Amino acid sequence: MEKTLVIIKPDAVKKNLIGEIISRFEKNGLRVAALKKLKMTKEQAMGFYVVHKDRPFYESLTDFMSEGPCVVMVLEGEDAIAKVRKIMGATNPAQAEEGTIRKDFAENIERNAVHGSDSPQSASYEIPYFFSALEIL
Ligand code: ATP
Ligand code: MG
Repeated sequence: MEKTLVIIKPDAVKKNLIGEIISRFEKNGLRVAALKKLKMTKEQAMGFYVVHKDRPFYESLTDFMSEGPCVVMVLEGEDAIAKVRKIMGATNPAQAEEGTIRKDFAENIERNAVHGSDSPQSASYEIPYFFSALEIL
């Protein structure tokens, strides 16, 4: 069983989509192993997305991720990382497949409703960024 870190981003939380989004993951066989709502500071958002620090969108992305509360969770299941990314859809909603979360709920390439770890290495950085071992069940 693989674990991945998922974030329901501030745009989707603001639109009251927490339940709808979690439900899509659960219906696809993923299990919630840990879950909480929090509001990141700018610095915390910068630390989370540090891999993108040299990208032109880093400043704007970290402003967005710290503008309001988000929901962070650990999802567990077979091939959880790939499965979550398929359910989320492409980064740019204009390119996302029908029926994906981003196709249905993202506003644009930045305000795109959800985050999911892109590899086991990312998951092993991202999961402990928000959760201690005692909180993952
Ligand atoms: P995430 O890491 O959030 O799951 P992703 O892996 O699909 O998304 P990344 O390339 O890792 O995409 O980009 C991280 C986030 O940065 C995107 O989800 C989006 O919010 C934002 N982003 C990516 N590309 C752009 C861009 N060209 N312009 C503005 N924001 C962008
Ligand atoms: Mg990514």
